[in-house]
Amino acid sequence: MQLLLLLEAEHGHTHMERVETDQNKMLEENNMQGLMQDWPLLCSKIIDHAALYHGDREVISRSVEGPIHRTNYSSIHARSRQVAKRLEKDGIAMGDRVATMAWNTWRHLEAWYGILGIGAVYHTLNPRLFPDQIAWIMNDAEDRFLFVDLTFMPIVEAIANKVPSLEKIVVLTDAAHMPETKLTNVVAYEDWVNEVDDDFAWREFDEKSAAGMCYTSGTTGNPKGVVYSHRSNVLHAMAASQPDMMNLSSRDRMMPVVPLFHANGWATAFLCPMVGASMVLPGPGMDGQSIYQLLTQERVTMTAAVPTVWLMLLQHLDKIDGTLPDLESVVIGGSACPRAITRAFQDKYGVDVIHAWGMTEMSPLGTICTIKPEYADLDGEAKLDLQEKQGHPPFTVEMKITDDENKSLPWDGETFGRLKVRGPAVSSAYFKGQGAENFDAENWFDTGDVAHVDPHGYMEITDRAKDVIKSGGEWISTIELENLAVGHDDVAEAAVIGVVHPKWDERPLLVIVPMEGRNPDKQDILEFMRPKIAKWWMPDDVEFVEEIPHTATGKIQKTVLRQQFKDYRFPGT
Ligand code: ADP
Repeated sequence: MQLLLLLEAEHGHTHMERVETDQNKMLEENNMQGLMQDWPLLCSKIIDHAALYHGDREVISRSVEGPIHRTNYSSIHARSRQVAKRLEKDGIAMGDRVATMAWNTWRHLEAWYGILGIGAVYHTLNPRLFPDQIAWIMNDAEDRFLFVDLTFMPIVEAIANKVPSLEKIVVLTDAAHMPETKLTNVVAYEDWVNEVDDDFAWREFDEKSAAGMCYTSGTTGNPKGVVYSHRSNVLHAMAASQPDMMNLSSRDRMMPVVPLFHANGWATAFLCPMVGASMVLPGPGMDGQSIYQLLTQERVTMTAAVPTVWLMLLQHLDKIDGTLPDLESVVIGGSACPRAITRAFQDKYGVDVIHAWGMTEMSPLGTICTIKPEYADLDGEAKLDLQEKQGHPPFTVEMKITDDENKSLPWDGETFGRLKVRGPAVSSAYFKGQGAENFDAENWFDTGDVAHVDPHGYMEITDRAKDVIKSGGEWISTIELENLAVGHDDVAEAAVIGVVHPKWDERPLLVIVPMEGRNPDKQDILEFMRPKIAKWWMPDDVEFVEEIPHTATGKIQKTVLRQQFKDYRFPGT
């Protein structure tokens, strides 16, 4: 051994390095190239495809001005080329960041394709963040232009002078609806875009170039910029539309209620035109009644959003005794989908629930809970048990669970550990190198989620790593307790946090928002939960509150809740 080390030192490289070099040389010499065309996977090709083969397919929007607006892929294609031409006329070029702060409408879609078609980068801003946070994000991204909906003009007026890189603000409306504003460099989209025609050829460049940006909310620390490439968006859309994933086709009328500014719009802006599905865009109408109206009037077959949106819709349906005759499936993700929602959609309205897990960093799809043959015979409660899982990944996503020492854990459906992923539509880094500790040398990205995986590859999130409760050295899943608690008729929303305990380090405290008009009883709720979980998982106490704090993307803000209960002590401790 010593001799080998000595020899290696003498020759300047290790034995292993020598073997690797020889192997690489051999691979290079024997490499026979495929004789297929180098057709760069650019996102502009998606809207080309939609216009060519699905040109008449409708894109229907609730406009910000009010009326329902109808167009099709052929027209979106033409108008997005106008946007591209107009942007170039204004000096926007390859690599420039162009922000959007807008609802889901046809104009937003045209802006996306126009921006990315010249190699510029669409950057979606979440208007639900604090204005200062939006300004911080715009400065970090160095946005040059902003497309904005009328609704958000007050935010822009408050922050525009804090973003020195911002040159022009394009308001997504026509001249007749332009608001009074003190800001200079503000134009009406329709006037601006109609200064040019649609005689424009998409720019061609490397498929690995940036196409879009979206910042994660960053519950701790500053938000981090995720940068999608053209290649990652195209591959992701192909993977996500497959039958065992979203199963989207030209026969669908898809309504993305999830905003384009949340996690790459769940890729719907690419998925729908790629398969030729019609799009029904809800614009600013995010309440139960408006969503119901579009779902029924426009005969929507598939829709997608976070659980809180569906709670609102189900409450509305209850109130008006509504039905959903055309809707076939609803994709639910962003946070764990409560069993009560799945049950109501499936049993009461005949709509399949597709539970999905994803992240901004994953473009965003990670897993989907569709039924593999191994589980095809499940029904009733057993099927609902399966649907509480977040599901299995598409081709292009590899996943593993590990302990704190990065050792892989078994897929037995019980052992939980840190969930790590990699693939061609998973981030390899954040913008400007932030958060480098989340990525390892083999490209595994640490999701920050804690999960178990069953022998058929179905993953179930049990917690965020930051939220898991460590009681006497063992982990308790807060999400599992929350899912259980919301199954009680008196509970509208539930959150579980760890509170210090003199003997066990931490024990679970259950925080509940009661259902409107109900007066729940602590013991009754605990007795409801007791037969369904291990004794040591039972919450030590229940607290009732009027409201649970949420993030801008609808997630329970455990950091704020923990702060709120920082002085709380369990009875007798
Ligand atoms: P943001 O952090 O900006 O709110 P993301 O959508 O990227 O946006 O958040 C991703 C996180 O959301 C995941 O890491 C996970 O913790 C949570 N999440 C997403 N979908 C689910 C789901 N179906 N069940 C449980 N948690 C989920």
